[in-house]
Amino acid sequence: KARLVIIGAGIVGCSTAYHLAKRGWRDIVVLDQGPLPHTGGSTSHAPGGLSLISGSRFLTELARYSVPLYASLAVEGLAGAAQVGGLEVAKSPERWAELKRRAGWGKSFGVECHLLTPAECGAKAPLLDPSSLLGGLFTPGAGIGRPVTACQAMTREAESLGAVRFQGGTTVVGLTLEGGRIREVVTDRGRIETEAVLLAAGIWGPILGRMAGITVPLQPMEHLYATVGPVPELAALGTDIAMPIVRVHDNGAYCRMHGAEFGIGNYDHAPLSVDPEDIVSHRVSREPTKRAFTPEHFSRTHRAVEALFPAIQGKPVTHSFNGMFSFTPDGMPVLGPHRDVGNLWLGEAVWVTHGGGVGRLLADWMTDGHPGMDVREADVNRFTAHALTRAYIRTRGRESYRNTHAVIHPAEPMALPRDLRRTAFHARVAERGGVFVEAGGWERAAWCEANAALAETASVPARAGWEARHWSPIQGAEHLATRRAAGLYDVSPLTKTLVAGPGALALLQEVCTNDMDVPVGQVAYTLSCEENGGIRSDMTVVRLAPDRFRIMGSAASGPRDQAWLRAHAERLRSDAAISDETSALCGLGLWGPAARDILARATASDVSNEAIPYYTARQIEVGVVPALALRISYVGEHGYEIYTPTEYGLRLWDALWDAGQEHGLIAGGTGAMDSLRVEKGYRRLGADIHADADPFAAGLGFAVDLTKPSFIGRPVLAERLITPAGRKLACLTLDDPAAVVLGREPILAGDRTVGYVTSSNTGYSVGRHIAFGYLPDQFAVPGQSLAVEYFGQRFAARVVAEPLFDTGGARLEG
Ligand code: FAD
Repeated sequence: KARLVIIGAGIVGCSTAYHLAKRGWRDIVVLDQGPLPHTGGSTSHAPGGLSLISGSRFLTELARYSVPLYASLAVEGLAGAAQVGGLEVAKSPERWAELKRRAGWGKSFGVECHLLTPAECGAKAPLLDPSSLLGGLFTPGAGIGRPVTACQAMTREAESLGAVRFQGGTTVVGLTLEGGRIREVVTDRGRIETEAVLLAAGIWGPILGRMAGITVPLQPMEHLYATVGPVPELAALGTDIAMPIVRVHDNGAYCRMHGAEFGIGNYDHAPLSVDPEDIVSHRVSREPTKRAFTPEHFSRTHRAVEALFPAIQGKPVTHSFNGMFSFTPDGMPVLGPHRDVGNLWLGEAVWVTHGGGVGRLLADWMTDGHPGMDVREADVNRFTAHALTRAYIRTRGRESYRNTHAVIHPAEPMALPRDLRRTAFHARVAERGGVFVEAGGWERAAWCEANAALAETASVPARAGWEARHWSPIQGAEHLATRRAAGLYDVSPLTKTLVAGPGALALLQEVCTNDMDVPVGQVAYTLSCEENGGIRSDMTVVRLAPDRFRIMGSAASGPRDQAWLRAHAERLRSDAAISDETSALCGLGLWGPAARDILARATASDVSNEAIPYYTARQIEVGVVPALALRISYVGEHGYEIYTPTEYGLRLWDALWDAGQEHGLIAGGTGAMDSLRVEKGYRRLGADIHADADPFAAGLGFAVDLTKPSFIGRPVLAERLITPAGRKLACLTLDDPAAVVLGREPILAGDRTVGYVTSSNTGYSVGRHIAFGYLPDQFAVPGQSLAVEYFGQRFAARVVAEPLFDTGGARLEG
């Protein structure tokens, strides 16, 4: 009996087996349908571009680990990677600006990189004609992998530890499930009983997933690669890889040398998706991830690259193919234990660049019970139901491919598919000129054009250029109107989960850091932490009855929060019933100094401070609409979140809207909501708070009740109280009132990077631009002068005491 069967001996399968072996695991079997080590999977054909810089800190961490690992591995003297550096070049002003932004990400996430003049680019890549360039970005630690060599080296090491049996030429044809777990892996050469399975099957993932009854949301895409040559100037360099990998983002291309040959990869073409069912089997082709080359998708890029590298002009194509690999709905890998099959792990949609790190992460996760880093962006359980449909996976996979080299603004909504989930208030917000953006399939207004007149008189600092994109001064006007009178905000997309039954309290006490044994009608803010004390989620919980709790959490992390809750309910054999109420209930935030007067006008129920004190909930009637009003606010104002069954939504809106007219009520969007919360110092999940920080570092220690005898993460958190992490989330303001940053920019003390911006927005009421970031304790002190680097420009900044707005909280309590 195996302890673990890994399906797939590509970079993910090999790396995970290797890291598990290093962590002392034994009895692992790695199966592959192809021969070893050239299995015919994507890893066999990847030209091996290994970039370190990314807008995702998570991916950067994985790459920063993987590249030196590959470089340190060797087979018969040949290393698994050559750290020859990576050069990204810019031909257009937009791209040059983007390289400056990427240089900022490099600094933020600890990657050494340098902006270069065109001449310096020419010096780094000797065949490159820099005359059409505006500049470049050089990353010394980047390089070019020899993925099969790396796999081979990891295989040998794992085998030598006596931990792993690698078996090629073995096709998995079925998975036998029993009681929601895989008991046995069925192959064309027999059956293997196993304790657990890891799917590391690359583009075949969806087919294997189906054998276990789950959806693996990835889309195989064709990608063009060709070599030209021979090029004497390359041959003269003397080795197979001497030139850095060169990325020509303007043309969706990257280039590398293979000895005397020059390789070109191209993303600048109409996306070519292949359904997993249409991948040919190994019986038909030894190279099933290769398809016929389509020159019509290559010639434009080929000409552009020839213009940059005159030495390759006119050289014939020597080798060409359309290779296939995986693209996911959000462009991120699919990792971790699946919520529906107890012992099934996924390691899917992983680039070679991240394969080493993914192997380590999965090995740590399987060994320690937690991944040891914040995996929310790549968690297998992050997808909502629509994101698991075939049509969505295909559409988004094609978009992800198209976006490989795109410049994407942080506030830019996805283009396709749109208009999937409309809230009950959609029609009313649309009537107010809502400018809709998407999150989790939901359409929500970023601002409402109907408030344009307010913006004409409001004092909102102007923006121009990049920071003005996907922004409007109306956001500032909505913010100020909310602080002055009141705003109505659609909060329906929040994930709502009902936990009910005799075991409900015990389950929540285990999963939440705060005390959940509150009186009925009380609201509690809490976190849930990983075993290592890192923050998984934050949420608001209302106790509806002794054995009924409603949890309201972030829209984006809903599916993984519910999966976590269910997993622990199962572990504890809890009888609590967990149901998703997200679509069943719609909700409005009614916030601002006039909120109570507006609500009082709309309802006959008592909404006085005595009837609904801060952080309590009460059932009210808004005309004929039954609703639950919670005295909470995400914007730092007096007010309520009001929930009702979805079908009453329009009547609820109309009643509140009519009541609010004489009080100056406005309909506000997500832009204003975010700027209001930043000013009040409320943290945003996934940005300011994540599993790489504990609650004390995040300034959320108040949500941890260590007097509770037990909850997940408690032992580590008790320890952290005595020995803090040494860094804290700090609030900064920019000295120049006109300066704006948008997130992920490096924070500098002199020339030293001491943190990066986790989230930021303009504090329209306090007249300053505000940013959050984790800083070492010695810098996280109010008054400390720092700088934030934005597109290479430094803005002076200062750490300030928070919150900046309504410090004493008088506006909330009244
Ligand atoms: P694979 O390497 O495909 O391994 C999966 C394995 O599962 C296969 O060997 C397959 O035979 C096996 N398998 C599947 N089904 C079964 C079954 N039923 N039974 C037994 N075995 C099974 N990445 C980068 O980082 N940088 C790049 O520059 C880059 N460029 C690329 C260019 C091209 C042309 C291609 C094709 C890919 C490129 N990639 C690049 C992507 C990268 O190659 C892949 O993302 C990565 O190799 C995937 O590794 P994997 O282990 O998940 O999958």
